[in-house]
Amino acid sequence: AASKETLGFKTEVKQLLHLMIHSLYSNKEIFLRELVSNASDACDKLRFEALKNDALYEGNGDLAVHIDFDAEARTVTIEDNGIGMNRDDVVNHLGTIAKSGTAEFLSQLSGDQAKDSQLIGQFGVGFYSAFIVADKVTVETRRAGDAADSATRWESAGEGDFTLESIDKAERGTRITLHLKDGEEEFADNFRLRSLIKKYSDHIAVPVYLPQEVDAEDDDGDKKKVPEAVNEAKALWTCAKSELSDDDYKEFYKHVSHDWNEPLTWMHNRVEGKLDYTSLLYIPSKAPFDMWNREATRGLKLYVQRVFIMDDAEQFLPMYLRFVKGVLDSNDLSLNVSREILQQDKQVDSMRSALIKRVLDTLTKMAKNEPEQYQNFWNEFGEVVKEGPAEDFANKEKIAKLFRFATTQSDGETQSVALEDYLARMREGQKKIYYITGDNHAAASSSPHLEYFKNKGIEVLLLTDRVDEWMVSHLNEFDGKVFQDVTKGELDLDELADETEKSQQKELEESHKDLVERLQKVLEGQVKEVRVTSRLTDSPACLVVGQYDMGGHMRRLMEAAGQ
Ligand code: ADP
Ligand code: MG
Repeated sequence: AASKETLGFKTEVKQLLHLMIHSLYSNKEIFLRELVSNASDACDKLRFEALKNDALYEGNGDLAVHIDFDAEARTVTIEDNGIGMNRDDVVNHLGTIAKSGTAEFLSQLSGDQAKDSQLIGQFGVGFYSAFIVADKVTVETRRAGDAADSATRWESAGEGDFTLESIDKAERGTRITLHLKDGEEEFADNFRLRSLIKKYSDHIAVPVYLPQEVDAEDDDGDKKKVPEAVNEAKALWTCAKSELSDDDYKEFYKHVSHDWNEPLTWMHNRVEGKLDYTSLLYIPSKAPFDMWNREATRGLKLYVQRVFIMDDAEQFLPMYLRFVKGVLDSNDLSLNVSREILQQDKQVDSMRSALIKRVLDTLTKMAKNEPEQYQNFWNEFGEVVKEGPAEDFANKEKIAKLFRFATTQSDGETQSVALEDYLARMREGQKKIYYITGDNHAAASSSPHLEYFKNKGIEVLLLTDRVDEWMVSHLNEFDGKVFQDVTKGELDLDELADETEKSQQKELEESHKDLVERLQKVLEGQVKEVRVTSRLTDSPACLVVGQYDMGGHMRRLMEAAGQ
């Protein structure tokens, strides 16, 4: 073969490899799931591209994954006849990590194996997991449609670098050979591989074959082996719910989501009638690293009549539900559907509304029936859900019921109080939902603006997330009660005061008239107005923002952004 070259891994790959090998060792068998998952994705991609160009099948449209092993040579091979890679693809996909949030992820690693393996699970493991069990990995691959003599061999020991060379490869697709480390011979075994395929890859849509001895001899007089399909090879979402176990759903989640944690819950629905589609939606248990990157890919895969069409079908779910992962399989859309077409399609709108409703209803039910699980959800994704009222006006009230807040009457920083709880605890005569914003819990909860409310036993929401002020401005009210920033303008504290307090306030205003006038003079041009207040009980004075001015928190954000 011509021109062998050696290239270095990008720094982050080196770090990731090192970490993966050490912290995932107790879960080493997952390498097979990751490699079969990639092989299945490659078959999906080929099927999609072949819709427009049948020639890519090169006369063989039976897509499959073949696994084999050689106990003596201590190798395991995973081979697919999917889309394959050209030389550039290989360098880009197997030499770097093209993922947003990689630097942030690596900076959070602590060296503590248990913590780091949790983090790496959230990040997604992928191809490099091969190096948990192999000290050399060889990838031979040819992109569908490319000439047989323009295939590529990539080889690496998973340390600093990898080699590339041009090879001949008659069959399109990718063959990965794992040279097992000392002590990992257990994987070069028919029974072991078979049970791993059943366990991890039963419900991916392509068949996975393993050679099986039959009652005949080959030319060398050895027992003859023929490939035998090991997995169910029926796309999971096409199965009836009754055929599927929780473990089936959980394994499939890991395949579609590239997340290694278990999902929190899932919704599997077959819809027939005006629209005809199946959806399988998952809510993850952990937020991904790139949740705050608005360009990051999202998790819904679109299929049309069981043919994979695209990852990241963002038309079907709003931004505030961007953490939802899963599959949508439509029988109505055309196989030629594109992102542009999706944007204008009426059926897409109906499906989108139905999916939103399904997710919101599931969360509502979880909040009611499994409050602890819901609290976990909220801690991970609450800040994203708070974008809801601005984006999805129609479901404003439903979304607001899902909100949880820290308040002056709740424990610590945990956001655990629902607006319905707040309403139930409102004082007699109280007409508004009071809140205060701040950069953090300590700052918000110690504000002098809260003194009056604490004394009166009136609960105040402590809003410390970046989106809060924006969220409140879109939500505006809940169950007919408007939101009121306790640092803004004249509070209608009158309504909350009893008669004695009202007359005391009048007296105070009278007796301090001179002082107020003097202060007004001294502070002229610096404040709009000086007032006698019953807001404070311990502090002598406080600054208040006009009712229609920007809140302090928002103002600081704008200043920080250079506005
Ligand atoms: P992910 O699957 O999350 O994208 P991986 O690390 O598992 O990440 O794989 C990285 C990339 O390498 C894939 O996105 C794909 O482009 C490419 N790749 C890996 N395995 C194959 C394969 N068998 N056939 C074609 N491309 C592959
Ligand atoms: Mg993968």
